[in-house]
Amino acid sequence: MSKRDYYEVLGVGRAATEAELKKAYRKLALENHPDRNPDDPSAEERFKEISEAYAVLSDAEKRGRYDRFGHAGVGGPGGGHPGADFGDLGNFGDLFNDLFGDIFGGAGGRGGRGSRRGRGQRGADLRYNLEIDLDDVLNGCEPSLKIPKMNRCEPCSGAGTAPGTQPSRCGRCEGTGQLMFQQGFFRVNRPCDACGGAGEVITSPCPTCRGAGRVEGQKTITVKVPPGVEDGARLRVTGEGEAGIAGGPPGDLYVVMVLGKHPLFERDGTDLHLEVPVAFVQAALGAEIEVPTLDGKVKLQIPEGTQSGRVLRLRGKGLPPLQPRLDPAQLKKMRGDLYVRVFVEVPTKLNARQRELLEEFAAQSGHEVSPTTKGFVEKLRDLF
Ligand SMILES: [Zn+2]
Ligand SMILES: [Zn+2]
Repeated sequence: MSKRDYYEVLGVGRAATEAELKKAYRKLALENHPDRNPDDPSAEERFKEISEAYAVLSDAEKRGRYDRFGHAGVGGPGGGHPGADFGDLGNFGDLFNDLFGDIFGGAGGRGGRGSRRGRGQRGADLRYNLEIDLDDVLNGCEPSLKIPKMNRCEPCSGAGTAPGTQPSRCGRCEGTGQLMFQQGFFRVNRPCDACGGAGEVITSPCPTCRGAGRVEGQKTITVKVPPGVEDGARLRVTGEGEAGIAGGPPGDLYVVMVLGKHPLFERDGTDLHLEVPVAFVQAALGAEIEVPTLDGKVKLQIPEGTQSGRVLRLRGKGLPPLQPRLDPAQLKKMRGDLYVRVFVEVPTKLNARQRELLEEFAAQSGHEVSPTTKGFVEKLRDLF
């Protein structure tokens, strides 16, 4: 059987560029793909021919040999048996899928590598709620989490087969993982029910996991929480979810930050808010008071004549921004502020002497009223 010229097969000139080759291959391969031509047995031959031509011409080294020596330059030891270099259609199916994705859906169903996705099924993702506090937001933390989850079965390395044994080829689908049905004019593939589409079955299951490839267990995982994280932020730990089923890849672990409510501080991004009580005498005369911060107590000057509700700012006593790449010293310079709202406390239990002094104070003030009170009285007068 004489082989057609590869350039002719793809309908391109000898000087065709890579892009032109790919474009031509894509068009022809789509037209002639066996899954699109179930009633045309010659489509499979054409598809092979097209794919073989493309496999050679898209490889610069093979193309060079083909240009110099023709089919003999790229054939197998026998000097150019059709497809000798490339195996069966399965490999071309893979080439096709690699280039264009699995556009026909399903697993191809034609017995190549592409049709056997393995028995494995990806493990589930896990969610772990990690309770953190403002100190953790300030400094970051590295907690060790004990996670109950399905782990890979070690005796069988997750394969599910008894040590020293191999899964055997599924007899029902003959290893393709697909069963074919004739429905009127159509040939329909569906995953084999005997092997679940894997093409192979476990005949001697691993005694530890009974063939599942994973066992219930617990794993301790240390995660690094950077400073500045927000409440509800998710940290993904790749591959630390449930182990896959029968050798499939593991899922991911999502650690969700749950910021506990602080008894004193209210968070607003990188700023913090705090309310402190101040005795009315301190507010009137001015005082130096101690206020709590995340770094310990600091002194705060209450100016003379401070009204209730006044907000004083302590620079740099807030939280760092979320900038995981920066080092602690840099983050420290970027911290937000602590806003201290002063509320003036009026004494409720006066002893006799205190009462006497206050009455004297009132007498001294006479009918004189403070500016805010005056404003209020005037507003009342305007209203009525
Ligand atoms: Zn099967
Ligand atoms: Zn096992």
